[in-house]
Amino acid sequence: MEKHHKFSIWYVLLGIWVVLLLQQYLVSVLAIKVIPYSEFLRLLKENKVTEVAVKANEIQGRALLNGDVQSKGELFRTIRVDQELSELLAQYHVTFKGEVESTFLRDLMSWVFPILLFVGIWYFMMRRMTGQQAGFMTLGKNKAKIYMEDELNVTFDDVAGVDEAKQELVEVIEFLKDPHKYTELGGKLPKGVLLVGPPGTGKTLLAKAVAGESRVPFFSLSGSEFVEMFVGLGAARVRDLFVQAKEKAPCIIFIDELDALGKARGFGAVGGHDEREQTLNQLLVEMDGFDPKVGVILMAATNRPEILDPALLRPGRFDRQILVDRPDKKGREDILKVHLKGIKASEDLDVERLAAMTPGMVGADLANLVNEAAILAVRRKKKQVDMSDFEEAVERVMAGLEKKNRLINKSEREIVAYHELGHATVALSLPGTDPVQKISIIPRGIAALGYTMQVPTEDRFLMKRTELLNKIAVLLGGRAAEEIVFGDISTGAHNDLSKASDIARSMVKEYGMSAKVGQVYLAGEKRPLYLETGFRGQDEYSEATAQLIDAEVREIVEQQYLKALEILKKWRPVLDRAAKLLLEKEKIDGETLKSLMDEAGA
Ligand code: ADP
Ligand code: MG
Ligand code: ZN
Repeated sequence: MEKHHKFSIWYVLLGIWVVLLLQQYLVSVLAIKVIPYSEFLRLLKENKVTEVAVKANEIQGRALLNGDVQSKGELFRTIRVDQELSELLAQYHVTFKGEVESTFLRDLMSWVFPILLFVGIWYFMMRRMTGQQAGFMTLGKNKAKIYMEDELNVTFDDVAGVDEAKQELVEVIEFLKDPHKYTELGGKLPKGVLLVGPPGTGKTLLAKAVAGESRVPFFSLSGSEFVEMFVGLGAARVRDLFVQAKEKAPCIIFIDELDALGKARGFGAVGGHDEREQTLNQLLVEMDGFDPKVGVILMAATNRPEILDPALLRPGRFDRQILVDRPDKKGREDILKVHLKGIKASEDLDVERLAAMTPGMVGADLANLVNEAAILAVRRKKKQVDMSDFEEAVERVMAGLEKKNRLINKSEREIVAYHELGHATVALSLPGTDPVQKISIIPRGIAALGYTMQVPTEDRFLMKRTELLNKIAVLLGGRAAEEIVFGDISTGAHNDLSKASDIARSMVKEYGMSAKVGQVYLAGEKRPLYLETGFRGQDEYSEATAQLIDAEVREIVEQQYLKALEILKKWRPVLDRAAKLLLEKEKIDGETLKSLMDEAGA
């Protein structure tokens, strides 16, 4: 394609040249003699002009120029001079001729110049395009440079504080080290591993470490790189990536920032999403088409799993998701130790205290912190980085993060701690609630400031009335704890309240669990809800019933709130002790809380 375009520049130049030649040729062959106007007038008076064609400026014709009376005369041409002047000039016998400014060159330029300009611009653009494509076009030759990163010497030791994620990846590493061992036994491995977690927690680093540990080639590309490229290239690039990877198997393909590429299809900007869609489709096709037995593992990272196209998460694609969460205090300590290896720190550095000083920070922040401290030490002309440098660095980094709204302050942390313990304590003291696994005040996602993890022991198909009530009490435990401890309540409970009200409403309207409303089903048929038009299914009960339902829902929620308050008042000393522990460790097991309660209760 390009060759053809390049040639056509020469076609244009050639054309111009031919036109010029032709012009010269015609002039010379036809040999029209140009004569002065006075000469023409003279010939006219001597009756030697045989025929003329008169134009605005010019007269052409035949005249007997060399006295040969027999012939029709030779061709001539002359430029007119206006009459008045020519009479005057003739009177004084001046030889005169008219001249027309040659417009040929000007005409030519008025055509040629814009053409040349366009050709120039177009040529320039083509060059830029081919320049960009060059990497792609010549991929066959230096492909290794483009995707493959050799000499990866990142190992698991470089990644700290994410032990759970590491554990899950061990299996992948084992597989990559010896794919046959696995496949001989008929074992099936995930094709795609998706690392999910907030920015800076070490997802990219972790992927590299997997490659480094298993000593296999690592093909890495970021999602935005696919999309930035020219139309059609993204898909081609995906295809090419897989071809190369298969050649080099066992290996890892790593797509960083998958969300840039894998946003759910059908939303986003009107223009330009076609290209992304094509690329995404190609990726899906490739993922379906390859056999994990060849030993290619696809890894990807994202911090926004919720916007990913559901097709990406289906079985056989990125079906294994690994959470790379924010580190707790112990994790931060380990990460700091990793990065401290790179600098000269003083012996008596209290890493544990540093970890305690940096709640909410992720790996990238801590790496930044260590670097900042080292710079401060250099500025102070010290031989070693000591605690005072670190303390100042913590302040600086914290201030930066607080500005970006990524850290919660101390008093908020306290509220969150008591809130979560409220949920957990109520759950532990009521029968039939799901066991408490973990209580954490490490922020998670965008909205949750802390969380209490309850894991059901078995699948449930039926729930008893008391169990539902207890569930509501647990949900309200967070707010109840806030009220008891601080005498004030916060907005942190709005999600809890909405869940509690939902359960209560269902109890009244669907399960017939309210004595006053009775054993009737009032939820009506669940019709589609047309949000925009405000048209919704009509509930089939009277206004009076509606009021009764509202009252009953409120009654149930109120009762359970009182129950939670009562429980928490009883456990107040335990609450305080546990809060202290939680604020220090940021994450405690349900077991720990349970034993605190047992101690106090005994
Ligand atoms: P993500 O991809 O999750 O946004 P990165 O892997 O790019 O985060 O991390 C950026 C940098 O932060 C890393 O190069 C490393 O120096 C540091 N870092 C992040 N997490 C960790 C960790 N768990 N252990 C050690 N260093 C980390
Ligand atoms: Mg990253
Ligand atoms: Zn809550």
